[in-house]
Amino acid sequence: MSARAVHLAFDGSVIGEVTETPVAALPQVLERAQAGARVMRELTREERARILRKAHDQFLAEREDLARTVALEGSKPIREARAEVDRASQTLLFSAEEARRLAGEEIPMDAAPGGKGRMAMTIRQPLGVIAAITPFNFPLNLSMHKVGPAIAAGNSIIHKPASATPLSALKAAKILADCGLPEGALQVIVGPGGELGRALVSADPVKLVTFTGSAAVGIGLRRDAGLKRVTLELGNNSAVVVTADADLELAASSCVAGAYGHSGQTCISVQRIYVARAVRDAFVQRFDAARSRLQMDHPLEDRCEIASLIDEKEAVRVENWIGEAVSAGARRIGGGHRHGTVLEPALLTDVPASTHLAVDEAFGPVAYVNAFDTLEEAIALVNNSRYGLQAGIFTRDLATAWRFAREVECGGVLINDVSNFRVDQMPYGGVKESGTGKEGPHYAIEEMTELKLVSWRL
Ligand code: NAP
Repeated sequence: MSARAVHLAFDGSVIGEVTETPVAALPQVLERAQAGARVMRELTREERARILRKAHDQFLAEREDLARTVALEGSKPIREARAEVDRASQTLLFSAEEARRLAGEEIPMDAAPGGKGRMAMTIRQPLGVIAAITPFNFPLNLSMHKVGPAIAAGNSIIHKPASATPLSALKAAKILADCGLPEGALQVIVGPGGELGRALVSADPVKLVTFTGSAAVGIGLRRDAGLKRVTLELGNNSAVVVTADADLELAASSCVAGAYGHSGQTCISVQRIYVARAVRDAFVQRFDAARSRLQMDHPLEDRCEIASLIDEKEAVRVENWIGEAVSAGARRIGGGHRHGTVLEPALLTDVPASTHLAVDEAFGPVAYVNAFDTLEEAIALVNNSRYGLQAGIFTRDLATAWRFAREVECGGVLINDVSNFRVDQMPYGGVKESGTGKEGPHYAIEEMTELKLVSWRL
């Protein structure tokens, strides 16, 4: 075991220390998890729900401490970090409620000619040991989206958080243990994804790998996982459409919040905005006025709206992508200048379709506005992406909204909301390179249980 420092990316200061788990220690971790799984599957639904509900209460009791941890390890504005703690506690509460509801169904066997004299039911059984791997950008809530449902379903779970942000996952595990979670039911292991993460994914006792992170890592991980079940929550280069009849004020203010929250480091961050040509300039003017008012500051300052990216390499990459788009003919309306790890929120227009900003996931504080002429064209622009997580449209026309909802290739469509609207019980997951499988406790539990048929001949 070796200790190492955890840093605040905003200024490089040391904010904590973690002990890394060597790959050689993984067999013991897996043994403990198997023992934990045997205990977990015997807990009643009520017992699992009680632990989760207690943890929900404790998250709220420790709200400020957890929020400071999230803000510091993730360089996330403290107000967003508090919102993340609130959402993580909700995720635990929804998981508790789902634990009580977890059930199979009656199968009408005699509906088939050969089924006479039989009755059957399905039951949902825990899988056993689950491996969870999470990214840096929502270190607490995305972790609870795996831990909560795994516990509700009666599994044990081994959680490897992102190397940059391990502290809130460790605190959450301590809270759950204090709330009565049995030994071995949740273990947090810290170490590099390319070594410890890979070893975990390919370990035999693991029955399901639930991964949230980049498409590049997720696609490779599917190969390492062999025949195990895998759910992948990957990236996106989210699009929002604004039609000529939309409420422009609402659309512009929502898009600003959606583009620059956590410096654009959310998987459904608003990146590509397509606005009807007739209102494009009016939209850009409103958007830019709100963008230029955003406050850049230390993440623990209450007024902070923009802190930093997770490291300088990422900040340089996004800065370069902005430069590439401008060289290719895009217009920079404002922002985009870098100060170490901090990047000013940037707005561009007329971004060519061939540039990184148009094709790839920016994962930084940058959005662009391009014009469209017909709804058909707008839908084609949204769909011209290898990703498909969520997309939004602002319109007052029901038929337009319905056509958009039906034709856009995404896991979720938000009408009169931006792409990154999410509450934690809704089904959430993408198509194409945005992943496979759904999260949201009810849906995650389906992935984390085995459906078994039991039939009686009467
Ligand atoms: P990442 O680089 O893919 O890392 C995610 C996790 O995978 C980390 O814990 C990482 O460990 C681990 N990892 C890296 N290589 C691995 C390997 N070969 N095998 C197993 N695990 C490995 O992603 P990130 O930069 O932390 O997060 C940003 C990405 O996550 C973006 O693409 C974003 O869109 C996506 N995301 C998706 C959702 C969603 O719900 N769809 C939500 C949030 C974020 P280390 O930290 O040690 O490298």
